[in-house]
Amino acid sequence: MSFYPSYWERSILLKTFDFIVLGAGIIGKQIAIKIKEKHPSARIALVDKYPLPLGASTRNAGFACFGSISEILDDLKHSSKNEVMELANKRRKGITQLVREFGTEAIGYRPTGSYEIFDNQQSIDLEAALNNLDLINSELKSVTGLDHIFEIKKGNTLEMNVLKTCFYNRHEGMLNTGMLNETIANKAHSLHITPFYGYDVKTIARTNEGYELSNEDNLRISCNQLIIANNSFASILFPELDVVPARGQIIITNPIKDLPFDGIFHSDKGYIYFRNIDNRVLIGGGRNHFKDKETTYDFEGSLEIKEFLENYLRTIVLPNRHFEIDMHWSGIMAMGKEKLPIVKRENENLLLCVRMSGMGVALGPILSSEIAEML
Ligand SMILES: Cc1cc2nc3c(=O)[nH]c(=O)nc-3n(C[C@H](O)[C@H](O)[C@H](O)COP(=O)(O)OP(=O)(O)OC[C@H]3O[C@@H](n4cnc5c(N)ncnc54)[C@H](O)[C@@H]3O)c2cc1C
Repeated sequence: MSFYPSYWERSILLKTFDFIVLGAGIIGKQIAIKIKEKHPSARIALVDKYPLPLGASTRNAGFACFGSISEILDDLKHSSKNEVMELANKRRKGITQLVREFGTEAIGYRPTGSYEIFDNQQSIDLEAALNNLDLINSELKSVTGLDHIFEIKKGNTLEMNVLKTCFYNRHEGMLNTGMLNETIANKAHSLHITPFYGYDVKTIARTNEGYELSNEDNLRISCNQLIIANNSFASILFPELDVVPARGQIIITNPIKDLPFDGIFHSDKGYIYFRNIDNRVLIGGGRNHFKDKETTYDFEGSLEIKEFLENYLRTIVLPNRHFEIDMHWSGIMAMGKEKLPIVKRENENLLLCVRMSGMGVALGPILSSEIAEML
């Protein structure tokens, strides 16, 4: 089908927008909200391929976290100390801001704290974490002002098949991903941001006024300022960007009676994560063991990762419990050579806020404010 506009569409509904945000995940929606709050009379369109965002936002684990010790140590191998500490601080501030902006109840936030656990194969990681504990705590204190973020816990009371020493961080917590998405969406819609859902942007062209987008039906929408917030999919429209897809998979059990723990858990440098929700256990990750296969936009999960996660649950997390797997799903994250997101003005009409490196829940409030400040 080819789209031929009516007079009403051309003169009102499709009149040039002040701002178009491409991508209506949690980042795009928060950007649109922040722009509207700064420019209340602006015409803003929020564009997405699907009625529900389909990428990572509605498919994640709901960790409000800023990184375990082993994850931070791993990051220090690839990035400078300042970058790593600043990123951790942005994540921490983002969590605080998220809770302040939307409220604990609306997003199902619970300040449970987090644990980093080590299974029997990870004694070297535990040793490295213990050796660097004071250093990491003092570096984090210099950016966050918080004392002793990571505390040692000895004696495994969690009924898990793990080493007796683990770390606890009282500043992290869990939220309900469904509630977070719904709350952010309700706020965006209440501010009269125009939704263009079901609109798959195929081309982006520069115009005298800014940019014009087009879908496969040749329905064109234009704007003065275009903000790209489609995370892993950004490199499809802008191949020069260092953004690659990274599939993350999750499984969740049926309800289990008397679960012996409450909180969010990190393992294997952050590559494995699990938590409780509604008396179930949700576990995700393992991507690092199947990196090539998981560098994909394919949402269909793999049996290999499903079995890997299920085995981790049976042998490490819930060794003494009977349970069944209820669901298995995947989402697509965005990675690059660097872990820092791409947040920048590309030219006078184009801004980028993409490549969340699996941290978008925590980073959303801060990065969306940074984008709004540029406009
Ligand atoms: C399994 C998994 C677990 C995770 N766990 C956590 C966690 O516990 N804590 C945490 O902080 N982060 C976590 N993340 C990462 C977090 O979910 C993401 O960083 C965040 O959701 C990114 O949001 P976004 O809005 O940038 O991108 P997305 O949610 O991917 O949204 C991008 C949107 O752009 C749209 N789009 C793409 N191309 C086009 C186009 N051409 N035209 C129109 N629309 C388009 C898509 O349809 C999509 O809706 C996890 C991710 C996964 C996959």
